[in-house]
Amino acid sequence: MRLTVLGCAGSFPAPDSACSAYLVEAEGFSLLLDFGSGAMSGLQRYGDMRRVDAILLSHLHCDHMLGACDYVVIRRYSPDGPYPPLPVYAPAGARERMAAAYGSPDEGPLDDVYEFRTMTAGTFPLGPFTVTAERVNHPIETYGIRLEHDGRVLAYSADSGVCDVLSRLASGADMFLCEASYLDSAVNPPDLHLTGREAGEVAAKAGVGRLLLTHLVSAWGDAEETYRSAAAAFDGAVELVRPGGVYEI
Ligand SMILES: [Zn+2]
Ligand SMILES: [Zn+2]
Repeated sequence: MRLTVLGCAGSFPAPDSACSAYLVEAEGFSLLLDFGSGAMSGLQRYGDMRRVDAILLSHLHCDHMLGACDYVVIRRYSPDGPYPPLPVYAPAGARERMAAAYGSPDEGPLDDVYEFRTMTAGTFPLGPFTVTAERVNHPIETYGIRLEHDGRVLAYSADSGVCDVLSRLASGADMFLCEASYLDSAVNPPDLHLTGREAGEVAAKAGVGRLLLTHLVSAWGDAEETYRSAAAAFDGAVELVRPGGVYEI
């Protein structure tokens, strides 16, 4: 598997990064894992907007889905289009939410562009991958994801506060892409996001090979502090991801 970071900013785009969007490729299949605000820029710069085979949205917050609304224009109106309907795996309600975000109600649904497949907890095949989705600790229906291919494992926290599900999803993963939105030095609301230390603790408990920190909130954050907090809690390799970062798994 190859992971390419298209965007990694938490909650809103940063000056130098779009919101969460990760391209995961194997056997020539390209899966977009989340597609947040501004991520069309990352897809054009680090990927290929003509080559996406499926989209999986962990949840329907803007910073994880609005790029998929922008992408409608490409798939529907490109000079070399229209492109065939693209599978979108997402929590219930994605079809209505995305149509509403894209335009006026009289424009109708996006069924010519997307084939919506309602995601629920469980394990299912997606292209060459085996996906396991489990509800995590976030105010709306949100799925943490475990992607397996050819004996290798990439786990993704999505957005989540502390919960046991995360270490189960990431158990023994070669790579764990984990959000670290909050600072340990701040007082944070519960059941929403993780701090660097909490991300490190999940990585340690799950015994992952490598911890990739993402979804830092640029305007309020301190990347150095987040990194130090995570590295203090996890002995293995820790890295803050950047747009354009590529990882072979
Ligand atoms: Zn988010
Ligand atoms: Zn969220």
